[in-house]
Amino acid sequence: MSMVATLLIVVCILWVALALFRALSGQSRGYHRERACMPADLSSAELVASEMFLCSRGAYPFHGKTDQVFLTQGRQLIPTETKTRSSARVHASDVIQLSVQARLLRDAPRQVTRGATVASYGYVRFPNAKGGPRYARVQLIEDAALDALHVRYGQLHSGSATPKPAARPGLCRGCLQAPQCPRPHPPIASIRDARRR
Ligand code: SF4
Repeated sequence: MSMVATLLIVVCILWVALALFRALSGQSRGYHRERACMPADLSSAELVASEMFLCSRGAYPFHGKTDQVFLTQGRQLIPTETKTRSSARVHASDVIQLSVQARLLRDAPRQVTRGATVASYGYVRFPNAKGGPRYARVQLIEDAALDALHVRYGQLHSGSATPKPAARPGLCRGCLQAPQCPRPHPPIASIRDARRR
């Protein structure tokens, strides 16, 4: 092999090694940055589930997918839901989502929960928040209130109950109840047009 070819191979190996080093150190920086933004109970916890599909039985069956579930050192499972919206504001739907996930975990078999209890709170994670990822702690809805929501959902779905008007027009966007809504907000576009006039 000529000297030039050997030199080329060495340069290629060095280039690949440098690219690998950069990628790994970038990942590690991202990991440490994320851990630094976590609340204390999560930063010391173990990630035990990600996107796990669960369903529960009983009078009010639920089904759904967890986002990330952490197991704390005190053996509590904490559900965490990631939202990529630009404002780090918690919506009521986030709390319902996390509460259903907690309910599913409570009803899950021991091999899933590892015998741990489920926390009465969860976190909404905003990875795109200004200044780095943010975690908002939310108190979860208790079982009786979740059952009531389940009943209400069934009634709205079957048309035996009337939907309540939303507080903000933005909430009507894509609402499945719009056909039977007694007071649907006008489409967002028509509100914008009216403002321009
Ligand atoms: S369309 Fe009616 S039911 Fe749906 S969010 Fe708007 S006001 Fe509520």
